[in-house]
Amino acid sequence: MLSGWREVTARRPWRISAKLLIVSSVVTVIGFSAICVNVMLDMRRGEEALARQTLENLATTIEADISRNIEIYDLSLKAVANNMLLPEISSVSKPVRHLILFDHATTARHFGAIQVFDADGRLTIDASTLDPLPESRSDEDYFKVHRDDPGAGLYISRPMLFRGAYSIVLSRRISDSDGGFMGVVAGSIRFSYFHELFERLNLDAEDTITVLKRDRTIMMRRPFDLDVIGKNLSERPVWKSDNLKVGGSFAGQGPIDGTSRLYVRSSGTAPLFVVAGKPLGSVFALWQKEALRIGAVVLMLSLFVLGSAIVLAREIGRRAEAESKLEEMATTDALTGLRNRRKFDHVIDSEWRRAMRQKTPVALLMIDADHFKAYNDTFGHQAGDQVLVGIAICISDSVHRAGDCAARYGGEEFAVLLPNTSATDAFTIAEAIRSKVQGWSDNQAGSTVSCGVASLVPTAGLDWPVLVAAADKALYAAKAGGRNQSVVASMPKLSLVA
Ligand code: GH3
Ligand code: MG
Ligand code: MG
Repeated sequence: MLSGWREVTARRPWRISAKLLIVSSVVTVIGFSAICVNVMLDMRRGEEALARQTLENLATTIEADISRNIEIYDLSLKAVANNMLLPEISSVSKPVRHLILFDHATTARHFGAIQVFDADGRLTIDASTLDPLPESRSDEDYFKVHRDDPGAGLYISRPMLFRGAYSIVLSRRISDSDGGFMGVVAGSIRFSYFHELFERLNLDAEDTITVLKRDRTIMMRRPFDLDVIGKNLSERPVWKSDNLKVGGSFAGQGPIDGTSRLYVRSSGTAPLFVVAGKPLGSVFALWQKEALRIGAVVLMLSLFVLGSAIVLAREIGRRAEAESKLEEMATTDALTGLRNRRKFDHVIDSEWRRAMRQKTPVALLMIDADHFKAYNDTFGHQAGDQVLVGIAICISDSVHRAGDCAARYGGEEFAVLLPNTSATDAFTIAEAIRSKVQGWSDNQAGSTVSCGVASLVPTAGLDWPVLVAAADKALYAAKAGGRNQSVVASMPKLSLVA
């Protein structure tokens, strides 16, 4: 069956709008999801920044407390080291010597008593007693360091058992006026100081505080673990100055346990620095909850939008199909399946105007069944209908070009519009139809058709009814000429194309 170009253009807008609906819904969903992901990532960055700031404040505050205490203690050590050089110190009584050497700072709760060792490492003076028991520290690092290096300054030892308590030992060299080694003055800060300091803080169980020496020896850690204290991390890749700068942060597994944390290093420059850590799970716990909630809502909304779009697109498709079916029905002749008269009038109108623009000929065949009334009267109306269907098939079989339009014009009359076809070519087609009907009806009851042929190049002021009238006239001529024949209209006044 031939399909006119009008139908194609009529269906297209529906298809485009269904696709457009799906595409715009997908774009909307992607757009909203992207915005949502962006907002969530911003929130995550915000949570991380807040945690980093809190941890940095914590680490820096702890570092400041520790360094202030070390400084106070160091001032006492310096005073002892200087006062030991006073010539009178060996001549005064022991109680007076104590008064000269030791101030009250050294009696603070977590500070061990200051001790003075001579150049051989023997204990000579002890702030806690006037008569100390003999004791030698010549093997200790803090003694050897000062003995071998006059410029060692304040030396902070590894954590160790010092006078029965875990402590870090602070020591200074006593040098005479020529820089000669006269001994060492040493004191200690007990771990109880760190325990008390950490207890004052409101920390979660998984939070960590690590106090380290500049050479990355762990001096103290919360949660407390004796196995870890004193370990040197210089061989471990994490927490090096390239991944944990002063005041910087590091996210991931630390050097001690497998928990991933956000670690922040204190921003001071004291001899001991502090790294505060918080598990990433708890840093992002609130964010994760929020992200899941918003993600679920966005997912549901996206599914709803996409689902609605699909349902609507299907509905649009169904309507478009129904519409095209309706149009098909409205433009098709029910008995023969050819175009009906209304459609034919439409097509001839537009083809006529197109031919006028392009200055091409339009041909028309008017085909009429011969003696059809008699046929009906003899074989009945139903048999007559079958003949009409047969004629329609013969016409359809002979008309192939896109743009050609075969229609049932009315009753037992058919019209075939052949754009861009000369009268000669149109006559050939008319004859093909006529002989096909004749050949087909030989087996039936001898039905034939007569054809009127006309072809015109439309010009201004000339309308298509002229073409119909010409073809009709030719049809009458064919009838008059004895039927079962094709006649080309003779139109001397019009531009007949042959
Ligand atoms: P002519 O050769 O001069 O065309 O003679 P004719 O009998 O075909 O012409 P006429 O106009 O006198 O008769 C047309 C007949 O076609 C009348 C009518 O019964 C018949 N007819 C019209 N439409 C239909 C139809 O849909 N079905 C059937 N079976 N017959 C129809
Ligand atoms: Mg007839
Ligand atoms: Mg007729």
